[in-house]
Amino acid sequence: MNIEETYRMLGVGEQVLRLGEEVLKELEPRFRGIDRIAEINQGKVLAAMQKNRVNATHFAATTGYGYDDSGRDTLERVYADTFHTEAALVRPQITCGTHALTVALSANLLPGDELLSPAGKPYDTLEEVIGIRSSPCSLKEYGVSYRQVDLLPDGSFDYPAIGRAVNERTRLVTIQRSKGYQTRPSFSVAQIGELIAFLRRIKPSLIVMVDNCYGEFVEENEPSDVGADMTVGSLIKNPGGGLAPIGGYICGSEACISRCAYRLSAPGLGQEVGANLGLMPAFFQGFFLAPTVTASALKGAVFAAKLYERLGFRVVPTGEEERHDIIQAVELGSRRGMEAFCRGIQAAAPVDSYVTPTPWAMPGYDSEVIMAAGAFVQGSSIELSADGPIREPYAVYFQGGLTWYHAKLGILLSLQKLVDDGLIRL
Ligand SMILES: *Cc1c(COP(=O)(O)O)cnc(C)c1O
Repeated sequence: MNIEETYRMLGVGEQVLRLGEEVLKELEPRFRGIDRIAEINQGKVLAAMQKNRVNATHFAATTGYGYDDSGRDTLERVYADTFHTEAALVRPQITCGTHALTVALSANLLPGDELLSPAGKPYDTLEEVIGIRSSPCSLKEYGVSYRQVDLLPDGSFDYPAIGRAVNERTRLVTIQRSKGYQTRPSFSVAQIGELIAFLRRIKPSLIVMVDNCYGEFVEENEPSDVGADMTVGSLIKNPGGGLAPIGGYICGSEACISRCAYRLSAPGLGQEVGANLGLMPAFFQGFFLAPTVTASALKGAVFAAKLYERLGFRVVPTGEEERHDIIQAVELGSRRGMEAFCRGIQAAAPVDSYVTPTPWAMPGYDSEVIMAAGAFVQGSSIELSADGPIREPYAVYFQGGLTWYHAKLGILLSLQKLVDDGLIRL
């Protein structure tokens, strides 16, 4: 079977395939750059595993309290060495990215302290954690105040306003690397480093936390390399490599991480408890695969950008821009366009490929939302997935792809559905 037959079997017609191949030719230098970063990050992860003498005993399951869990402790050393930090907390008991961020914030903020976001509004779920939208057990309820400095219209940091916002109560600064589901640009590690240096000149005692969700292994460096005290993320995104079925991580200074451990378990217990429940093989192997899995997702994002740009759609970021996370937005301009795109992504999935995604009124959103995902791990967004609110500018946010070939198929099928529905003519 040749390539044309393979794609025909999967539902992609000749014209769509030909256009895809044309676009791919232009992307060769770009893909080499992505591979080069994956190579560097693969080296970092391997060196950390070798240095910590990872061996088969580390894959054993523990239960109950999990005292003397050498697999768990070694995994945390491997994360710490990869992120170049003193310590790390990497646990299945951290249920998601929001939970990891909540642990990091609530462990290091005390009543009377102020939290500062110098990069505008944080990720949706953090609004309730902070108390921007009121919620039981928010930081606000515990007497932690919040201040926000919005980004300038061009998406850059408003340094003078940030300078004015830091006061005697400011204790912790939260910086979100990825745009998430906003339209602002994502920040590079270098930009984050400049902001951290600026903040430290004003107030050296500040604790800086970076929400690193979707950013791991996209660049050669991580926020922890440019001065972040805590770098935080989810294991069902990049660093889990698609194999971790749950979990979150916090890498950072010994002082911050030990407080996080006391917050996660209990004062006095800290990092000593927390059984691994047999998840160590998935966590170690997923982390080992994460640099190349992230590269696959990045190739998918760049390919989607180039392909849809060529067809006249607005894409964020563009096919040429540097990447700082794995999210790609494509503005399809209509509800029907979003539905067709998502049908293609869904049809490409290894799981639930026969399902038709339809818009629904999701709690917490002011418009209907459509989602396409056929994942081995529920809700995993390092696996190929797309979603978006049904409203202007009718943008889908597309991310993931455990292998580049799967990401490629998903994008080709999304275009095929748009063509089949008469929304695009090739
Ligand atoms: C995914 C994400 C989170 C956390 O989300 P969970 O769904 O709780 O894992 C936080 N911040 C950003 C930028 C994210 O992309």
